[in-house]
Order: sequence, then structure tokens, then C-alpha cells
Amino acid sequence: MARVLVGVKRVIDYAVKVRVKPDKTGVVTEGVKHSMNPFDEIAVEEAVKMKEKKLASEVIAVSVGPTQSQEVIRTALAMGADRGIHVEISGKDYELLQPVHVSKILAKLAQDEKAELVILGKQAIDDDSNQTAQMTAAVLDWPQGTFCNKVDKTDAGLTISREIDGGLETIKTKIPAVLSADLRLNTPRYATLPNIMKAKKKPIKKTTPKDLGVDTSPRIEIISVEDPPVRQAGSVVPDVDSLVAKLKEGGFVK
Ligand code: AMP
Repeated sequence: MARVLVGVKRVIDYAVKVRVKPDKTGVVTEGVKHSMNPFDEIAVEEAVKMKEKKLASEVIAVSVGPTQSQEVIRTALAMGADRGIHVEISGKDYELLQPVHVSKILAKLAQDEKAELVILGKQAIDDDSNQTAQMTAAVLDWPQGTFCNKVDKTDAGLTISREIDGGLETIKTKIPAVLSADLRLNTPRYATLPNIMKAKKKPIKKTTPKDLGVDTSPRIEIISVEDPPVRQAGSVVPDVDSLVAKLKEGGFVK
């Protein structure tokens, strides 16, 4: 039975309208509602289901970030993860943290914890990188199954259905492996109140990138973050003829 490591990132809640800082160095995070990255909820659900089916022995939720990252670890514990690991990094160091660093941290923890599966979200909705699972697989030199929409355990390893452009692809892989969860993999459960209470007693280990021997100096520099262009106001046309005339005028049709 495999031990599963799941990555849970604390991000600005998907329902919040994100605002760019006036100095264009990033987005406003103070006083803004944060939650677990939605794809990570799917990753946790998949890992917990594996444990319920006795395909996994233990589920460990890992979050790399400031103190508040423990909130999303608690959510994972309330959903059924067994224990958490908080890799603390805050302030400017966290703002400059990139997928390559998170990958090295997750890879080191996977080895230390003797995990056989690492399940991540396909992408974090704040940086939209879609890189961490791929790079974690590379660092560990393990096979990867990205954009999973179905994962079945077989005697030889895993059979995975992946969402690709225009269809689905089925692949087989041995374990250990790194997976990334796509939207349709499952529907994550809500944490019930009794489970939220139980989660308070589950252990969260604290460590730092330095303790794990991971250098987090930035590889890229963000030059500027800007709002998307404001949409031009539309206009109402009285009938189809005037619509066609307007389209011709604008050069949209000949
Ligand atoms: P990204 O490559 O940044 O789009 O992130 C893909 C996935 O990697 C996320 O859905 C998480 O599962 C994991 N991940 C990225 N950053 C972190 C982090 N700071 N802490 C824990 N997991 C993370």
C-alpha cells in the first residue's frame, strides 16, 4: 500500500475579484479571502478515496507558504488526510517562490516520507504555472500522469485517463509516480463539523526549505503585473441589416 503526499496551496479564493497593487509588483493579498487551491481539493479527495479503498496507507498534506497555510492543511485533514507538513516561508521569500522550488521541496519530502504517490493539482489558480507536478516528477525521476480524470490501481501500477486537447488519453504507469488532478477527476467532499473537530487533533509537522536543503533563490524576476484591458462598451442595434452594416464598417465581414 502506498503512502500518498498531496500538495495543498493556499490561494486567493476563486470567487474573489483580484486587484493589482498600485505599484504593479503583484496583487493585493492583505484582507482578502484565501482558500485551498480548487484543484488541490480534488487531489486530496482522490488520495482520501484511495485510503478508503485500502489502496493507500496514509495521506500526508503538504503546504509551502506562510503561517496561514496551516489553514488549508487543516482543511485537508478535515477531508480525511492523516497528517500535515507545513513548510514555512513568508514575506518576500514567499512572493518570490516558484514552482521549481516547490517541486524540489515536494520531491525531498516524498523521499523522506517514503511516499510512493505524489498527487498535486494540475495548476494553482493564482500563478497558473502548471509546472509543479511535471518538475516534481523530473526531480524524483518518477513517471508522471498529468491532467488525470480517472485513476485506477492495477497490480502493475496505475491506469490513468488524461484530459488532452480534443479527447482523452489512457496511459499505464508504474508506481512510484506523480499525478496531477484535473477538474473531472472527482467531486471533493465537504469537511463535516465532526471531521473539522477531529482534524484539530491531527499532527502538523513544521519545517523550512532550508531544513530540507532547498535553495529558494528566485530564477525569474517579475517585471510588472497589470490588469487586463477594460472591455469596450457594446452597442445595441435595431435590426439585422444594421448589424451587418456595422460589421462591414468595422471590417469584420466583407
Ligand atoms: P503550479 O505548478 O504552481 O500551477 O501548481 C500546481 C500544483 O502544485 C498545485 O495545484 C499544488 O498541488 C502544488 N503546489 C504548488 N505550489 C504549492 C505550494 N506552495 N504548497 C503546496 N503545494 C503547491
